Formats: sequence, C-alpha cells, structure tokens
Amino acid sequence: MSVYVLVEHDRGDVEPTSLEALTFARSRGVVTAVLVGHGADRAAAGLGDYGAAAVTIATNDLLADYGPDAWADALRQIIEADGATEVLASGTDRGNEVMAQLAARLDLPMVANVLEIGESGEVLRLQWGGSLHEQASTPGPVLLYTLSPHTVEATGGAGAEAVLVERPVDLDATALVTMIKDRVTTAEGITLATAPIVVSGGRGMGSAEAFDMLEELAALVGGKVGCSRVVTNNGWRNHRDQVGQTGTVVAPDVYLACGISGAIQHWVGMMNAKTVIAINTDKDAPMVTKADYAIVADLHEVVPAIIEEIKQRHG
Ligand SMILES: Cc1cc2nc3c(=O)[nH]c(=O)nc-3n(C[C@H](O)[C@H](O)[C@H](O)COP(=O)(O)OP(=O)(O)OC[C@H]3O[C@@H](n4cnc5c(N)ncnc54)[C@H](O)[C@@H]3O)c2cc1C
Repeated sequence: MSVYVLVEHDRGDVEPTSLEALTFARSRGVVTAVLVGHGADRAAAGLGDYGAAAVTIATNDLLADYGPDAWADALRQIIEADGATEVLASGTDRGNEVMAQLAARLDLPMVANVLEIGESGEVLRLQWGGSLHEQASTPGPVLLYTLSPHTVEATGGAGAEAVLVERPVDLDATALVTMIKDRVTTAEGITLATAPIVVSGGRGMGSAEAFDMLEELAALVGGKVGCSRVVTNNGWRNHRDQVGQTGTVVAPDVYLACGISGAIQHWVGMMNAKTVIAINTDKDAPMVTKADYAIVADLHEVVPAIIEEIKQRHG
C-alpha cells in the first residue's frame, strides 16, 4: 500500500493532529508525507520519526499560505504521478476541506472523520458530531479519508530519516480562488484545543463574573478555560471558548467540568479527555455519572477551595 498523508502546517508549525494521521498511516503501508506552502522545509523536519518514509514538498511560486484549491490541486498532481492507493489528512476544518476538494477533482468518494479501517477496506466513521458510528464502504481505486482527531495518540520514535523530495507543481490563478489575505493573532501560547488541562464552566457558574475564578484556577495549573453552549448563548464567554459539537473538540489530560450537565453535544467535544472531573450539585447529571471523579457539591464553594489549596501548596 502506498499511503499519502497531507501534513497540515502553518508557516512551518505542524498541526499536532497531522502527527496522529502519520501514526495511523504507518499501520496502513509505506507512508509519504505531503507538505504545501511556505515553511514546509521546517515542518518536514522530524516527520520521519512519526513514520514517514518520504516527505514530498510541493513547490510553486503561487503556494504561500493555506488555500484549499491550491493545496488540493498540488496534492492531486503528486498522488496521481506517484500512484497512491490511499490518501488521508487529519479531520480538521482544513483537512476536511482539502480532502473534499481533492475528491471532487478525482471524482471519487471521500470519507470524513474515520475511526478505523477494516481488513476488507470498510471504514468506521463518526457522524452527527460523534453521536453515531457509521460503517461505510468506498468503491474506487484510491481510498480518500480524514482521520477523526484524537482517534490515535501521535507516537514518534520510529527513528527513521525521511527522504526529502521537492516537487514542482503546475498551478494557475484558479488555484487561488480562496486564499488568506490577512492574519490576526487572537491567542498566544497554548490554545483551548491543545491545552493539557481544560477548566470548563456551564450554566451552573451563574454569571460571566464567576468565570474569573476559573481563569485563576486555569492560570495556576497551566490550563485554559472552556465552557458550554449555554454560557456562550448567555453572552458570558466568547464562542471560541465553547467546547462541543458546535465548538472546539478537546482531548486534554484533565477536563474539569464545573456546573456542566454533560449533554451529548457537549460530551462529544471532550470525551477523549484522559481524566474527567465533574463538580455538580446533581449526582445524576450525565457528566457526574460518566466522569472519572465527581464532587457532588456547589462549585462556588469547591472551586475557591481548590484554588486556596493549590496556593498553599505552592507556598
Ligand atoms: C445542534 C446542537 C448543537 C449543540 N452544540 C453544543 C456544543 O457544542 N457545546 C455545548 O456545550 N452544548 C451544545 N449544545 C447544547 C446542549 O444540548 C446543552 O443544552 C448544553 O451543553 C447544556 O449546557 P450546560 O451543561 O452548561 O447547562 P445545563 O444543561 O443547564 O446544566 C447545568 C448544570 O449545572 C449544574 N449546577 C447548577 N448549579 C450548580 C452549582 N452551584 N454547582 C455545581 N453545579 C451546578 C446543574 O446540576 C446542571 O447539571 C448543542 C445543542 C444542539 C441542539
């Protein structure tokens, strides 16, 4: 099997879930990582460790920042010339967008958010924000799919050096129909999606001001603050902090859910957390019954007590 993985990067910073896609791909066959855009050289370093036998960098003066049409057309030219049997990307917004564009160009089906691939090529994928697992078969000479983020852990240590190849691709102005014209940094450092600890609040917080204590707790433990949709609907937090089906999908080491009931649309956004801790007054709330640890009590008493304890321990 000749497996090609589109490795997403932003001016050389590799999207972490692309390393998961490489990890998954190496169990499928001989892996070639494909990179497009400025900074690809920097992004290429270290991909061999995650299982890439080769790294192909698409080159063309028109390729700079992300552009779905340009990325898909560059990827198409490379996989057609090389005869790939399987092409995947991580199931991020960009990964799904490029793979859908690629599928349209090749007139082939594409499966988004795959969890597993069976012996005979049938795929198991997530549907409806994660609340449905669907089995599908994909006829066609090349299997095109995206891997659901956090399905596997990115594991390096393959110890191999990938062969680096630069490949010029032909693009005309139509490849730049959609392109980035401006970049604005809205968050520095760790983000909600990558934070090792997420301290999240729901309706039980009661007000926007109550989130001050979650900010304080998150700062003490090196985490980020998340929230439920009720919170964003109430205008207590910005939508970028929302966790769930229509928000950000997170997979931290620890997810602390304060006053969040655990509705399915929220749960699918954090169910891959390694440890879930719930603080809730309702012992029957789904978040409490599904959590690894639960404190059945008023969060307005528990959260300040945790902050106090951490401060005392840190002196
Ligand atoms: C199409 C669709 C998409 C959606 N997408 C999302 C999404 O992306 N993310 C999301 O979060 N939701 C989403 N929702 C909404 C979701 O269904 C729930 O309505 C929402 O998650 C509930 O938020 P909550 O847990 O904060 O509020 P509630 O369900 O009202 O729960 C509040 C919890 O706080 C507890 N509580 C109250 N006071 C205290 C206290 N003092 N101390 C401790 N505990 C307390 C209560 O016991 C309760 O369990 C979506 C819904 C739909 C239909």
